[in-house]
Amino acid sequence: MRPTDDTYRHEALRRKLVKEIQSKGITDERILAVMLDLPRHYFLDSAFDETAYEDKAFPIGEGQTISQPYTVAYQTQLLELKPYQKVLEIGTGSAYQAVVLAEMGVQVYTIERQKKLFEANKTFEFLKKYKFIKFFYGDGYRGLPTYAPFDRVIITAAAPEIPQNLIDQLKPGGMMVIPLGAGDMQQMMRITKLENGSLKEEVFDYFSFVPMLGGKES
Ligand code: SAH
Repeated sequence: MRPTDDTYRHEALRRKLVKEIQSKGITDERILAVMLDLPRHYFLDSAFDETAYEDKAFPIGEGQTISQPYTVAYQTQLLELKPYQKVLEIGTGSAYQAVVLAEMGVQVYTIERQKKLFEANKTFEFLKKYKFIKFFYGDGYRGLPTYAPFDRVIITAAAPEIPQNLIDQLKPGGMMVIPLGAGDMQQMMRITKLENGSLKEEVFDYFSFVPMLGGKES
């Protein structure tokens, strides 16, 4: 069961969480404000009611996880979003990251390869108000050629390599934030597609994500 009530206690826990991620180095006030307002416990089973505001990843079924709040904030900050941009997310999972993006004022296209997780979001009442999030069931390695090009691409699973299809679907001047690496840890990278088509690569901290897998899971 999903919880649907947001109490003062949840709000107090969120304030503490936001202070924590701020102390870890997140400086973008807009992101902090969005995370302060957004009930993360809605995205988890009610069994996590007490723990939902710990800065940790938690299971969401199908062997997948909701990303750690710090990681969500970190990736969002690297995206340097501007209102109305088109953003492609690979790995919808709980949809928490997708909602953070939507609250930043961008149009979100998000893909999930696990049918059950995709279906669960269809019946998640809280998501109904987010008209600027479009949900897709499919293989993120293919991207969404019909909706391309995108201003930003965010990958929320560990990518063993930079997916060329997704680079192709970036606008000139666009950016991709991707945790890169096949082992236990991945290095966060930001890839900017320059106007002349060449790529600028920047490297950041190490994180641990569930793997980005090929194909769809029914
Ligand atoms: N952004 C999510 C994080 C979920 S974990 C959140 O906020 O909760 C990563 C998700 O990526 C998992 O749900 C996994 O099933 C999905 N995934 C892995 N490889 C994928 C692929 N090739 N295409 C689409 N989704 C993928």
